[in-house]
Amino acid sequence: MGAYNPYENVISVIRDAAGKLGLAESDYIATMYPERELKVSFPVRMDDGSIKMFEGYRVQHSSSRGPCKGGIRFHPNIDENEVKALAAWMTFKCAVVGLPYGGAKGAVKVDPSALSHAELERMTRRYTAMIAPLLGPERDIPAPDINTNAEIMAWIMDTYSMLKGYAVPGVVTGKPIDIGGSLGRQEATGRGIAVTAEEILKKMNIPLAKIKVAIQGMGNVGGISAKLLHEMGASVIAVSDISGGIYKESGLDIPEILRYLAVKGKLLKNYEAGGVTHISNEELLVIATDVLIPAALDNQINENNAAKIQAKIIIEAANGPTTVQADEILNERGIIVVPDILANAGGVIVSYFEWVQNIQSLMWDEDEINKTLTRIMCKAIETVYKTSVEKKVTLRTSAYMIALQKLVTAKKTRGIFP
Ligand code: NAD
Repeated sequence: MGAYNPYENVISVIRDAAGKLGLAESDYIATMYPERELKVSFPVRMDDGSIKMFEGYRVQHSSSRGPCKGGIRFHPNIDENEVKALAAWMTFKCAVVGLPYGGAKGAVKVDPSALSHAELERMTRRYTAMIAPLLGPERDIPAPDINTNAEIMAWIMDTYSMLKGYAVPGVVTGKPIDIGGSLGRQEATGRGIAVTAEEILKKMNIPLAKIKVAIQGMGNVGGISAKLLHEMGASVIAVSDISGGIYKESGLDIPEILRYLAVKGKLLKNYEAGGVTHISNEELLVIATDVLIPAALDNQINENNAAKIQAKIIIEAANGPTTVQADEILNERGIIVVPDILANAGGVIVSYFEWVQNIQSLMWDEDEINKTLTRIMCKAIETVYKTSVEKKVTLRTSAYMIALQKLVTAKKTRGIFP
């Protein structure tokens, strides 16, 4: 077996969905290639006066259905194939939930925890300047992803606006509220995960209050998912971060854990509380639970552990947490996988609301945002579920079939230039 290449995962899922739709290759071939890929190398002055070189990417997978949209990730192990895959997943995600966007993703190969706050700002601003020719509210709109947050979005917005000479809030989403961010954006992906859990469990006639949940990753997405599911009555029995996991069979005290993690530098490996035991990230994935929510990195559920997973339902909060090989094993074992492009779409849905508010220079209230988010998520979940039953395919194949059909229609309707 060759090295794991997430972009090959994407191609394989697209081909599978195209086969089920009976499409000719010429109909969907464009969806297998990113439209535009930019690789940048740039210097940053460090606090001690030395110069360090950084490498970054911005990949625009598709603009067939609208401007490209997708987050920016800061991570030491990122590579081109991963950014390409992440960009493609954005295209399919926006299509499946019906947003008028294509897909993109950006990344810088960096461990941001090794930078000072000032170095992080200079690095972000220089990276933004390097990819600025591709950006713009009508072109390509970044957002937060792993290790990036509202403050970093503010630096991106400011850098882009300085280059333009006027304020352009709509160039990024996930900004602080004071400069055009949307209420509800920070919680949106986790809220979408909670809505997904509720809707899927309803289909299976399982009351949410009776279930056990394990969550890998306690950042923005995992943390909010844990908070909301805990509030809804589910028992969150295991959570983890990069340092490892914690477990309590009768349910963890999620509000207390979130307060602990809110202090900068705190890691779960040092968390202590009555009845809580420490487990590894590998152990968390195969723990006895009803619902497993991978909310960290891709390639976590693979052929090495898929046969050992004990969860009945996997809700993919992370992008690409399950490999194609693992998907087959899980399907044979009757484990339901709610795919990333559906389950974690809450973030891009509220990003879309933020962009619309920026373009129209008005603000929606939080209640309206959460209600509209829930309505869009529920509709997409219903459509994907129905198609999966009708066509006798997995939820992933169903979601890709729906998205691919929309992309193929858009391409056909627009025609090929020149
Ligand atoms: P984040 O940086 O806020 O949190 C990441 C979490 O994962 C942290 O708890 C970190 O400690 C943990 N982690 C990192 N490496 C790990 C490892 N090797 N093993 C276990 N845990 C590890 O990032 P986030 O924004 O919460 O994103 C998490 C996932 O959700 C990513 O796959 C991202 O692409 C996806 N996602 C994010 C959004 C969003 O709105 N932020 C939207 C859709 C999808």
